[in-house]
Amino acid sequence: MTSDELADFDRKHVWHAFTQMREYEPLLIERAEGCRLFDTDGNRYLDGSASMWCNVHGHRHPRLDAAVAAQLGRVAHTTNLGLSNPTTVLFAERLLEVSPPGLEHVFFTGDGSSAIETALKMAFQFWRQAETPRPERTRFVAIGEAYHGDTLGAIGVGGVDRFTAMFAPLTFEAIRLPSPGGPCPHSGRPAPSLAESLSALDRILAEHRGTVAAIILEPLVQMAAGIYVHPVGFLRGVADLARRHDVLLVLDEVATGFGRTGTMFACEREDVSPDLLCLGKGITAGYLPMAATLATTRLWEAFLGTHAERRTFFHGHTYGGNPLAAAVALASLEVFEEERVLTRLPDKIERLREHCDRLASHPHVGAIRRIGLVAGIDLVADKPSGRPYPWQEQRGMRACLAARKHGAILRPLGDVVVIMPPLSVTLDELDELCLAAESGIDDAT
Ligand SMILES: *Cc1c(COP(=O)(O)O)cnc(C)c1O
Repeated sequence: MTSDELADFDRKHVWHAFTQMREYEPLLIERAEGCRLFDTDGNRYLDGSASMWCNVHGHRHPRLDAAVAAQLGRVAHTTNLGLSNPTTVLFAERLLEVSPPGLEHVFFTGDGSSAIETALKMAFQFWRQAETPRPERTRFVAIGEAYHGDTLGAIGVGGVDRFTAMFAPLTFEAIRLPSPGGPCPHSGRPAPSLAESLSALDRILAEHRGTVAAIILEPLVQMAAGIYVHPVGFLRGVADLARRHDVLLVLDEVATGFGRTGTMFACEREDVSPDLLCLGKGITAGYLPMAATLATTRLWEAFLGTHAERRTFFHGHTYGGNPLAAAVALASLEVFEEERVLTRLPDKIERLREHCDRLASHPHVGAIRRIGLVAGIDLVADKPSGRPYPWQEQRGMRACLAARKHGAILRPLGDVVVIMPPLSVTLDELDELCLAAESGIDDAT
């Protein structure tokens, strides 16, 4: 097929995620190198969304390519239903080594949503089988505007209403704590303060005493909500309340894990170790689908027994623990060390901050929220009042589409333009990316 024929077939037959297919304009990326993407017409772009937030060390990294090739020479896929393979075990060992203390066991799945489903079901089943069983602990507390994936359990604890409100009748309802990470650009209401949030959570846990299984949250920053950065101390406060009320803490680091916020995991920043930790996206450096739910020994032990005792976790995904994915995930952890990826981040984070400071004076830029190597830039119709554009105008999407003409692939969240390159981005590339974003914003506003 010629590139026009490919685009035509794509437009008519390939149903794209989160995409209105009537308005979809195909763009086919044929190859990539480092932070550059090349389309079928030979145009080049900077990968400003890290290929949907998961690329870490750049594309076609020689170490990672070699790891996949080497594993292909052994076996591509087996199964983790009752058997294993050396590469997956080696990766599990390394992963648990770099993970927050207390997490000693790992359940592999294929994508972030299934890591969340796994955690929710584990937390639920845990209370039925705990040393002192508490089967009435069945509910979940989640944060307003949280995003935990698109499967039914994950949208039950999610709160990005523009994605999920329609499906409410199909799912269970979480108890919701308003996000302290706003202000919400859609509602315009101010976010509650740190103290207000934590006392609201304390009240919720007291009010629902004995019926809450777990609190689930994205630590430090709610990405899909619009890069809502929580006040310092919120995560620590939530963890303390979870402990005090004897409720499990589930952290969703699908987006924040693997260096995005400046440390390997976001929860390290507030010295918090959860009972269950969900990982995805960057786990294979953006190469292959894989996700994981890490658990403490307390959780693990509640599931041990003979078959007849029915304590088994009857849950799994066909490609969980896939050896090809494990091979590249293991190599990615080695690259983190060899290339001192985290040590080299502060300069890049600082450069992103400088660009954001400049962008803040743009006449149609409102708030900019930033943490580690990610920034969310609110587009506003009127700067003094912060009045948003009518959502139907899709200014965020228009700015990102316009940025393509200036050499960058970006993906918005509503009217929030997001800058989230691979961690391997160079300072020069970061300059180029931010200038392209700015030009796109100019064009669309
Ligand atoms: C992307 C994401 C998920 C879902 O992961 P998928 O791999 O898309 O299923 C869950 N939680 C967070 C915080 C995410 O960013």
